Amino acid sequence: MNRLKHIQPRIAPTVNARVVTLDIERIPGHARVKHRGLTIEGEFWDLNGWKHTIGRRIHADDVLEWPRTICAAWRWYGEDEVHFAAEWEVGGNDGFLRRLWEVADECDIAIGHHAAGFDFPILAGDWAMLGLPAPSPFKIIDTLKVARSAFSMPSNTLDSLAKRLGVESKSDKYDVRVAQAAVAGDKDAQARIEDYNRGDIIASEALFDRLRPYARNIPHLGMWTDDEMACPSCGSTMTATGRTVHANVQRYEHLHCPNCGSHARGTTRLKNPTRTRSAR
Ligand SMILES: [Zn+2]
Repeated sequence: MNRLKHIQPRIAPTVNARVVTLDIERIPGHARVKHRGLTIEGEFWDLNGWKHTIGRRIHADDVLEWPRTICAAWRWYGEDEVHFAAEWEVGGNDGFLRRLWEVADECDIAIGHHAAGFDFPILAGDWAMLGLPAPSPFKIIDTLKVARSAFSMPSNTLDSLAKRLGVESKSDKYDVRVAQAAVAGDKDAQARIEDYNRGDIIASEALFDRLRPYARNIPHLGMWTDDEMACPSCGSTMTATGRTVHANVQRYEHLHCPNCGSHARGTTRLKNPTRTRSAR
């Protein structure tokens, strides 16, 4: 399964950006709803989660406890250490969320699986509830979005993509009971979720490296170099192949990255047709 493990081109060392891979873990909320004379109590992730049972959304007033962010792991690209912070450490939930704010404030680019659709919007709300301002602007590279736009794989979970694309993948799975035991103070559960969370970081960074040559619509990494020929995907110097890239009307010089295999086109247009079809 790991036959393709070596195809994980790294960001060029000339890229002068602070890049971080980050992943959060959450526990579900708790609600109590009166329904047809019965009291229904239980966990929810989403206020629509009980619709099949109660036929409506859970009302905000029925929420006893909201779902919350309980821990996170992150690693600065190029470093070995995976950092971890959790609400069960000194500083509690506030302290741990403030540490994550510092990470976001410091980074230029944040990588994560579902990071744009999940982790960062959730964190933005968490930080706002603490009264923190928005961290300085940074770009998010969401490996879920990258995979969805590049391929049409039946499953786009981190685990399945990592396994099928032959990159390092984690072993454990998220378990609500373990997460709940962890926040209740169970040391073994805390160690297990920490392990799982750290494993996710290694898998997400490896997946991003693996997806690199297929990634479109990610920030141009050449922005953090002085190199005009920098590869958009990894920042290495691209070479002109002598071939031509054709758009519908215009053509460009074809550039190729020897580090990651990405293709790009030069900014100068080659001589193009002077007449185009009229619109219908
Ligand atoms: Zn490249």
